[in-house]
Amino acid sequence: MGVKRMSPVRVAIVGGGFSGLSAALDLCKAGFEVTVYERDSDIGGLAGTFELSPGVRVEKFYHHWFTSDVDVLNLIDELGLGHLKRYVASNTGLYYVNSIFRLASPLDLLKFTPIPFLDRVRTGFMALYARRVSDWATLEDISAEDWLIKIGGRKAYDTIWKPLMAGKFGAEAPNVSAVWMWNKLKLRGSSRNNQGGESLVYFGGSFGALTDGIRRSLEEKGVTIKLKTGVRSILTENGRAVGVETEAGAREMADVVLCTAALPQFLDMAPSLPEDYQARCRQVRFLGNSCLVLRLNRSLSSTYWLNVADPSFPFVGIIEHTNLDPKENYEGTHIVYLSKYLPTTEKLFSLPPDEYLEYCIPFIKKIFPEFDRSWVLSHHVWKAHYSQPVITKRYSKLIPDLKTPIESLWLCTMAQIYPEDRGTNYAVRYGRKVAARIIEELASQPAAGSPSEQRLVGNRENVA
Ligand SMILES: Cc1cc2nc3c(=O)[nH]c(=O)nc-3n(C[C@H](O)[C@H](O)[C@H](O)COP(=O)(O)OP(=O)(O)OC[C@H]3O[C@@H](n4cnc5c(N)ncnc54)[C@H](O)[C@@H]3O)c2cc1C
Repeated sequence: MGVKRMSPVRVAIVGGGFSGLSAALDLCKAGFEVTVYERDSDIGGLAGTFELSPGVRVEKFYHHWFTSDVDVLNLIDELGLGHLKRYVASNTGLYYVNSIFRLASPLDLLKFTPIPFLDRVRTGFMALYARRVSDWATLEDISAEDWLIKIGGRKAYDTIWKPLMAGKFGAEAPNVSAVWMWNKLKLRGSSRNNQGGESLVYFGGSFGALTDGIRRSLEEKGVTIKLKTGVRSILTENGRAVGVETEAGAREMADVVLCTAALPQFLDMAPSLPEDYQARCRQVRFLGNSCLVLRLNRSLSSTYWLNVADPSFPFVGIIEHTNLDPKENYEGTHIVYLSKYLPTTEKLFSLPPDEYLEYCIPFIKKIFPEFDRSWVLSHHVWKAHYSQPVITKRYSKLIPDLKTPIESLWLCTMAQIYPEDRGTNYAVRYGRKVAARIIEELASQPAAGSPSEQRLVGNRENVA
């Protein structure tokens, strides 16, 4: 220990979603002085919640975990909150040409008459097939469409997958890589209970109760969380990040900056990044998402997740949340999400909530003819600009490293998650991964003379 500890390394984390919060947990444990800057009025990011009524919270966008989401489930245990995990048998269906088909188990699929029997069997084996793919890189050059036709047959593709892909990715659907689809099939197949049905996990009191737990843990360890504090730009000096400038104009210095905002937002914050780096990152395209959240006095159905295989509908999924978490937790009311992925330039994305609801009502009635406007106790519309990167063929070539070309500037964002697809589980995994890389890099830096270097070296006493 040649250098006396002067002051801890200061880390500025931009974004208080699951990536930023997970990184903050490990960085503060390593003895760093961590500040989280969050533009929103609460932490949680895309997995954030809102109050339906005093004390009753629910996610802005539907959320659950798969039983295979071990990174987030382990984090919950580490926080001492394991008793709040709720394992629930889920119930999936498909709306296709005026009918609802239950698709919760392999047996349900065998009864799915719109496709020939042989194709039903092939479709049933798709998840198994996906799990047997040993090297996903072999799928990088293939489109999801070609791969799905190959393994499930043309009729199954046209009936089930094509409308779902069009509903989710719109005009981008033909560009989606087989790797994205492979991961989805593998994931869903891996979250089954012993009856072959799907088992999902939720958190007692909502994801907001989990972020409350994370916040408590961070604050106990001295982390500062600055809400309603957007970062306008990342400050650099001689090719090194030295702090952040907030949208209110405050310049706050730091030794390390970690950005967890969406990739295009990050690029706007750091214009001094090399041009070729920026050009590569800008090739990653995103879809927006809008969720209409309905609070109803009746249930629509017993299905938790209903895929809508008709891209002309203003939603690709109807998620009845209270079939995952009981209505008693919502004052006896029923919570339903209507989710739509779309380019943010589409008119629907900017419709005000009342117009949005009126636009959706005839479509809800098409699926549930008995549904009536009077069932709606309240409604909310939540929108996200960067909700899903489009995973195109050879996507691995576009992904920026966690370490950026600017010294002491790190990036941990949804677009880097691959071959898996975005999700809070991966936000936790990558948030912890970037924290480990930062700690490792600082621990390996040689002792030197400048005050900032002494500060980094001094802190090695903490990080070793
Ligand atoms: C419709 C929908 C459904 C989903 N369903 C699930 C699900 O069921 N299960 C699951 O696990 N995951 C689900 N996800 C994905 C999951 O929400 C995300 O993968 C995860 O929350 C991403 O976390 P993050 O921290 O990487 O990013 P984000 O949550 O996007 O966090 C980034 C944060 O940075 C902040 N920020 C941005 N710019 C600035 C700035 N300039 N200054 C300060 N702060 C800034 C943002 O406000 C945000 O809070 C879903 C996502 C969507 C959109």
